[in-house]
Amino acid sequence: MKHFPIFVDLNNQPVVVTGGGEAALAKLRLLLKTNADLEVYTANPEPAVERLALNGQIKLHRRTLQPADIANATLLYAADADASEALRVAGLAKAAGVMFNVVDNLEASAFITPAIVDRDPVTVAIGTEGAAPVLARAIKAKLEEELPERLGFLARIGKLFRPQVAALPEGRAQRAFWSDYYFKSGPRLASQPETEVQAALASLLKAHSAQTPLEGHVAFVGAGPGDPELLTLKARKALHEADVVIYDRLVSAPVLELCRREAVMVSVGKEGFGPSTPQDEINASIVEHAQNGAQVVRLKGGDPTIFGRLDEEIEALEPYGISYSILPGVTAASASVAAIGQSLTKRGRNNAVRFLTAHAMQGFAEQDWAALARQGEVSAVYMGKKAARFVQGRLLMHGAAPATPVTIIENASRPDQRIMSTTLAHLSADIDAAAPQGAALILLGLAPREAAVNTLKEAVI
Ligand code: SAH
Repeated sequence: MKHFPIFVDLNNQPVVVTGGGEAALAKLRLLLKTNADLEVYTANPEPAVERLALNGQIKLHRRTLQPADIANATLLYAADADASEALRVAGLAKAAGVMFNVVDNLEASAFITPAIVDRDPVTVAIGTEGAAPVLARAIKAKLEEELPERLGFLARIGKLFRPQVAALPEGRAQRAFWSDYYFKSGPRLASQPETEVQAALASLLKAHSAQTPLEGHVAFVGAGPGDPELLTLKARKALHEADVVIYDRLVSAPVLELCRREAVMVSVGKEGFGPSTPQDEINASIVEHAQNGAQVVRLKGGDPTIFGRLDEEIEALEPYGISYSILPGVTAASASVAAIGQSLTKRGRNNAVRFLTAHAMQGFAEQDWAALARQGEVSAVYMGKKAARFVQGRLLMHGAAPATPVTIIENASRPDQRIMSTTLAHLSADIDAAAPQGAALILLGLAPREAAVNTLKEAVI
């Protein structure tokens, strides 16, 4: 992010605009939405600029800008038709330490003006760092459609009502009230006169005051393999409503971005061999937050019911009678087969599929190797990076064909997804050579489908 978005208070603040043509007028129209003191410097004002001066909306100086004119300015817009004059003005602003914008010249500007959706006091600013003005306009058009015209009206009344709402307990109760107002009762009332809306707000507040506070709850939520679009709608809603999010290292940054801004974020790094928070501490943290009445989201990579120590966490809640729910997620095996254009089961090939871990409580996990070694079997090995040699050895020992296809998928569904196609005979050597740093799943018995490989943008080695 090169340009940092902020909202500047321009109330009664001096803002300087240079130029008297179309570009200056466009900026003035925008600035007139504020209560800034607009000082315009130009030797040739267009009639429309003259009119603004006559109406007292701007102060017009019929000359070019001089250094002394900007000493107190909060912002400066150089909108001169003459590009060299605009740059001269920008130089003066820079020397005086005043934030300046040269209209239609991103490189020469200290700040740029975003595309704006105005539902005052709700303002949405959209920027693309100059990379894609078309995109900014498309987003603006979409938001213009989606945000009701009367949103500003509701927000203004809501703002006046804030002191009364302070009577509700802080946090969840207040949020529930505002969400009810803005998303349920508010839009229904938007066409009513202000007094009606105020009366309705008062009775809504009464209804909310009479409610007993929500009890704590824990949602075990599957965050999926990384791509945020693979979240379920329920998961997304739970993230939006969470007071506390306790998440594993496998949960991707774009998924965490979707959590409610005010949520307390607790990272409990848990990764095969890296540093991790002991399970007891995780359990204690979940219980503590839920007992405080929080809506806790326990966010786990993939599906929470697969190699996620879910039962231990549920059992920790039981003595306290804390309610919980489980929201399934897309497991790594599903994302991985999707990435290579295959299915986990196939008529005539395999009627069953196994999800196995190469890790047990102590060391490597034993399996029914003879069954896994049979021709046509498909298995997904979780946490298998370090155990690849062990798995390979056991399978070969139990009669698996050395040419059995094996695919390793690293960071399935993420932008840095990598697919490595090999055979059982070369599994361990190839995994060592590729040294995957991210989460990796080993699919035994599957090779990437030819057509899929050709369309994959990732390197296949
Ligand atoms: N509950 C998770 C699995 C947790 S065990 C799920 O359902 O997916 C952690 C293992 O899952 C990792 O060691 C890796 O083998 C696998 N894994 C998780 N996310 C992955 C991803 N995006 N790509 C490949 N493998 C992944």
